Amino acid sequence: MRPRVAFFDLACCEGCQLQVANLGEELLDLLGHIELVEFREVMSEKWEGEYDLAIIEGSVTNEEAVHRVKEIRKRSKTVMAYGACAVNGGINGIKNTKPMEQAGRDVYGDRFKDFPTLPTMAVSDVIEVEYIVPGCPIYPPEFLKVLKSALAGLEYVIPDHAVCVECRFNENECLYEQGINCMGPVTRAGCGSWCPNNGNKCYGCRGLLSNPNMNGARDVMKKYDLEPDLILKSIDMYNAAGQKEE
Ligand code: SF4
Ligand code: SF4
Ligand code: SF4
Repeated sequence: MRPRVAFFDLACCEGCQLQVANLGEELLDLLGHIELVEFREVMSEKWEGEYDLAIIEGSVTNEEAVHRVKEIRKRSKTVMAYGACAVNGGINGIKNTKPMEQAGRDVYGDRFKDFPTLPTMAVSDVIEVEYIVPGCPIYPPEFLKVLKSALAGLEYVIPDHAVCVECRFNENECLYEQGINCMGPVTRAGCGSWCPNNGNKCYGCRGLLSNPNMNGARDVMKKYDLEPDLILKSIDMYNAAGQKEE
């Protein structure tokens, strides 16, 4: 019997689902090996039974989502969180930089009490998660590797070295030479330095290294005459819901 796989989304832009839906031929290959039982972006059917693999996109931001992920966990043998929103809170984590009442008022005005909100949480803050795919959006080649590992029951270890390593390997000219602050030195690799390869700086979407050298990053900012605190503000864009390393 083919493994039953379901995709779910919480608070997110659904951009990671779109990356999966756009896999084209690789998606068709994949569909030959699994039974896709739920995936709102591409089908309307719902499944009432158990899942071999539940793949969750988006952050947990209210009680309803807490309940929902717990229910998914009860019905799933294996859970994967994919995309920055699900893995570490991603952009949704910016909400956590202010009091929740203020965050509610900023969005809903005086009706904020009608929409009770929680601080942004990663899926793994609420339930056990066996696999993660970081990134905003996910890097499709990595998603496929993690998915294959999950279907085979093999461990997949996300790299814990800096994006700069991949960037140097790809022989890109460092963007700091153009006076652009890039988050590559403190960001987890695995995307093949996707953004610098295309002339854009790294925004840190894959999350911080487990032991980022913040002093080194500040020294680089100073060396290139950039405001050192810019690095902390940049970190907040994707990492405000998680731990901030000083
Ligand atoms: S990680 Fe980024 S692309 Fe994916 S759902 Fe969240 S905001 Fe959208
Ligand atoms: S462009 Fe960014 S990722 Fe590439 S080497 Fe420079 S700091 Fe690192
Ligand atoms: S280069 Fe940085 S911002 Fe771009 S995909 Fe990789 S980790 Fe994310």
